[in-house]
Amino acid sequence: MNSDAMLLVETVNFAAEKHRDQRRKDPEGTPYINHPIGVARILSHEGGVMDIEVLQAALLHDTVEDTDTTSAELEAKFGPVVSRIVQEVTDDKRLPKQERKRLQVEHAPQCSRQAKLVKLADKLYNLRDLNRTKPVGWTDERVQEYFVWASEVVRGLKGTHPTLEQKLEELFKQRGIPL
Ligand code: NDP
Ligand code: ZN
Repeated sequence: MNSDAMLLVETVNFAAEKHRDQRRKDPEGTPYINHPIGVARILSHEGGVMDIEVLQAALLHDTVEDTDTTSAELEAKFGPVVSRIVQEVTDDKRLPKQERKRLQVEHAPQCSRQAKLVKLADKLYNLRDLNRTKPVGWTDERVQEYFVWASEVVRGLKGTHPTLEQKLEELFKQRGIPL
């Protein structure tokens, strides 16, 4: 096995252990780890992204926000670049949810290209998930509001990856939201 393959296996294992007790919000309660793996797969298989640090950050992108993982822990285990990308895509949980959503829109254009790639793939995965099934307790209006908010974030990521942006644009178009 080459060292990149070993690194990816180590990274996905770390993420799986951290998210082990979590489930997605879909009615089936899909294991949470399906999401970060799917985000990394969108980047590699649909986006042709081969930057190992971006793929690792995709696998780890929700560990700091949603588990006990710290940036320092990621830095010690996976190095400063991966840790920094994850930090860039991590919301500040001390802030109210509305404020976090507003800050994502505001900060998107200032992110590094590596972080922008993870953000594009994360939004693509979540929007596809919403098209597949409605999360427990959500109304159609809430789903539509999420699409509108996601489009505002993605607008600030334009010029990063034409293929991924096109796929997102198509999903927004289906809901009457221009990008
Ligand atoms: P979100 O509304 O942001 O929930 C969506 C997030 O959940 C996604 O970004 C994704 O994040 C994660 N997720 C998990 N499972 C799924 C899935 N199956 N499909 C799509 N996404 C999934 O977060 P909250 O529920 O915390 O609510 C926050 C906001 O929603 C607040 O601003 C609040 O005001 C608003 N709200 C609106 C309501 C309404 O009826 N309009 C009602 C209640 C709240 P990740 O990538 O991190 O997994
Ligand atoms: Zn995510």
